[in-house]
Amino acid sequence: MSRYRKLSDYLRGKYGTRVHRLPINAGFTCPNRDGTISKGGCIFCEETGSGFGAMGEDVPISQQVRVMMERAVRRYKAEKFIAYFQAFSNTYAPLDVLRKKYESALVDDRIVALSVSTRPDLLQEEILDLLEEFKEKVDVMVEVGFQTSNYRTLMKINRGHTLAEFIDAVIRLKKREFEVVAHVILNLPWDDMIDVVESAKILSALKIDGVKCHSLYIVDGTPLGEMFKRGEIEICSLEEYVERVVRFLEYLDPRIVIHRLVADPPKDKVLFGNWGLDKRKILWMIEKELEQRDTYQGARFNYLRRKGVDWFGKGKGIDGGSDQTRL
Ligand code: SF4
Repeated sequence: MSRYRKLSDYLRGKYGTRVHRLPINAGFTCPNRDGTISKGGCIFCEETGSGFGAMGEDVPISQQVRVMMERAVRRYKAEKFIAYFQAFSNTYAPLDVLRKKYESALVDDRIVALSVSTRPDLLQEEILDLLEEFKEKVDVMVEVGFQTSNYRTLMKINRGHTLAEFIDAVIRLKKREFEVVAHVILNLPWDDMIDVVESAKILSALKIDGVKCHSLYIVDGTPLGEMFKRGEIEICSLEEYVERVVRFLEYLDPRIVIHRLVADPPKDKVLFGNWGLDKRKILWMIEKELEQRDTYQGARFNYLRRKGVDWFGKGKGIDGGSDQTRL
């Protein structure tokens, strides 16, 4: 039995078969790159807008979907699919443009869900109205960039928003019962274990449905790449990353689906990625560590006080100590 709630199990349980995600490049850009918020973008963002798994934006969306579907049918006998709008900010366009792009991905009824990846400050109510229209046809997942609970780090990485915008977007998405997935980077150079634990707690408190963890990779030509070359930042060790993932899982609500624990770095111009290892090896290390410690997702999920807790007058703190002491 798995020690964390895997996406593959969740999708199989929900749709009765293995479900494949089809990454789409819809030709969007991002207000944090086009000068609306900033020109530089997030300091780690490379020129594909963190969507390097997808095809070129010049290929029509319906064609991208059909090509990838046929490939997955041939290779894996796949039957059901998620149309995944991945590269850049996929809610950054006028509503009629967005509607057309999303519609063109729903090529037939084998597409069971639409997944839209975006920034928290691009989820205004009109966008949510539009996404709700699509809920009548397919399931809708919204992937929102969180990265870290440390709002000082968010400034350092030039996100162009802080924690408040993320919280606001998630509250409004959850009110409309969207499936919400948060992107998290657990080894940003300015963060430590306290930030990792706080991230798990905030995502759990917000009742996020899924998390997608990334190990930070560094691409040449990005501001982060320049900092790395100048020796201004240090990436934690692989052992520390494994430790952070394990602790993150322990504090995370066990109902949250884990979409990913380690990312694939792009193939070109990588200055640092996954400590030079295949991501499956890192995943294996994480699972081995969970096993050896006999721990699991949610092992420390005991901090939300949504039901009455009988601790008055017991003369000690909640659970006998603060979270700090239990780090
Ligand atoms: S929000 Fe996404 S697309 Fe925009 S700069 Fe940051 S990582 Fe790149």
